[in-house]
Amino acid sequence: MCMICRQSPCHPSCPNAPDPPTVYTCQHCGEPIVAGDEYLEIDGVYYHLEDCASDAAMDILLNRCGASKGVAEVDDQWT
Ligand SMILES: [Zn+2]
Ligand SMILES: [Zn+2]
Repeated sequence: MCMICRQSPCHPSCPNAPDPPTVYTCQHCGEPIVAGDEYLEIDGVYYHLEDCASDAAMDILLNRCGASKGVAEVDDQWT
C-alpha cells in the first residue's frame, strides 16, 4: 500500500501515482497528451487544446494553410 495516499493503487492525485497512459503526443510541446486531456487534431497531428493549440495555430496557418506574414511598411513612394 502507498505510504502517502494509503490507497492501492494510488489515488490519482497522489505524487506516487503512475502517469496516465499517453494517448497522443503533442506536436507543439512534445509532451504526452494523456487520457482526460483535451486535444486539437489536424490532419492526424495532435496538440494540447488549452496549452498549445493557440500557440500552434499560427504555425498551422503559416505552414499548412498557405497564410503568410510580414511586417507592414509604409510605402515610401510619397516621401
Ligand atoms: Zn499514493
Ligand atoms: Zn502540448
